[in-house]
Amino acid sequence: MNVAENIISLHREIPEGVELVAVSKFHPASMILEAYNAGQRLFGESRVQEFLEKEKELPDDIRWHFIGHLQTNKVKQIIGKTALIESIDSLRLLELIDKESEKADVVSDILLQVHVAREETKFGFYPEELFELLDSGKLKDLKHINVCGLMGMASNTDDLKRVRADFHLIADIFERIHFNSEYGLPNFNRLSMGMSGDWKIAIDEGSNIVRIGSAIFGSRY
Ligand SMILES: *Cc1c(COP(=O)(O)O)cnc(C)c1O
Repeated sequence: MNVAENIISLHREIPEGVELVAVSKFHPASMILEAYNAGQRLFGESRVQEFLEKEKELPDDIRWHFIGHLQTNKVKQIIGKTALIESIDSLRLLELIDKESEKADVVSDILLQVHVAREETKFGFYPEELFELLDSGKLKDLKHINVCGLMGMASNTDDLKRVRADFHLIADIFERIHFNSEYGLPNFNRLSMGMSGDWKIAIDEGSNIVRIGSAIFGSRY
């Protein structure tokens, strides 16, 4: 894998207004630096311990998105260190991030993860749970959280029609929230969807953040 070449060609292909998160999970810091030296400043990690080790040793101007399932007992460790936590999947997690952010005197930018992929167990709010949460008004009480949008994944399948339909549904949910001022989320404008195998379809369907790992760094296994 030529990491630098992959970064450069992806930036050439990805339209303006869409952010590229280089998903570096399971790959060593040396490979992150290859991407960094090619101009990449935004990286994604999915495990707290691994993220903290890399964050400590790599350049300060890297922005990190946390994209993995976040256990409540690990929240405290990452507060103030992420540009965006993309993978919020429960009210409990939201309340805890709010509490820890207040203690640290920061406001944490987050995305709500929505679950539409049907066949496998993935984390995230089901659409009806998401709207229940929004309708409850509980988010308005969380003053140290900035809800910036949605993150979602398509079903893990070769059926591209299905992948597109999943992204379409996520984008539809996104718009219903984005355009409803009653939810009181003025910064709800980021839609993170699309990975190595499906990012073009995701952008087609309205994504403005793509999370790409193996197409940059190679296989993780
Ligand atoms: C690993 C991961 C990615 C990147 O997947 P690739 O197929 O390697 O591009 C994107 N998003 C999430 C949430 C991930 O866990």
